[in-house]
Amino acid sequence: EKSPVLADSAIPLHGVPGTSKERTFIAVKPDGVQRGLVSDIIGRFEKRGYKLVGLKLLVPSKALANEHYADLSSKPFFKGLVDYMTNGKAPVVGMVWEGPSVIKQGRVMLGATDPKAAGPGTIRGDYCLSIGRNICHGSDSAESAEKEIGLWFGGKGEVVDWTSNNEEWVVS
Ligand code: ADP
Repeated sequence: EKSPVLADSAIPLHGVPGTSKERTFIAVKPDGVQRGLVSDIIGRFEKRGYKLVGLKLLVPSKALANEHYADLSSKPFFKGLVDYMTNGKAPVVGMVWEGPSVIKQGRVMLGATDPKAAGPGTIRGDYCLSIGRNICHGSDSAESAEKEIGLWFGGKGEVVDWTSNNEEWVVS
């Protein structure tokens, strides 16, 4: 018998931006994993009321990291960035989070790209100092969320469309 949790979703893998089914790709980068910040970062999104619909631990291939950061391929830091993500000194935690305005609010919760400009209370503002070791990633638009969720969570059943019993208390 087919599990209801694994049933084919009625909504696209990347969610429906602008609704309570909006989805974003959030990652804890290798420095965040190495420094033991995975639970804190997951906890912030959980406590906010967002719903975890995808979660995996992996050392990304060079091809995946190159594609993920394709927009930055001409930047001087690109090679170092891809090496940091893929060298296997620690894995990456890839996640898909769902809820109202999760793309924009996910970025707010991460804080500015350069931690020196990130406010206290944000992940980067609380835990890091250097733009090259800024702990986390979050999609910056609906287009990048669609691209990134597809890239990191291609396989069937990897993003799970489930109903949280808290939903009526969080989203109404
Ligand atoms: P964000 O991750 O906030 O979306 P960008 O897309 O501009 O920011 O950059 C992607 C990642 O590239 C950053 O999170 C950071 O890890 C790295 N990066 C950006 N600028 C620099 C830089 N000047 N030096 C080193 N790494 C950088």
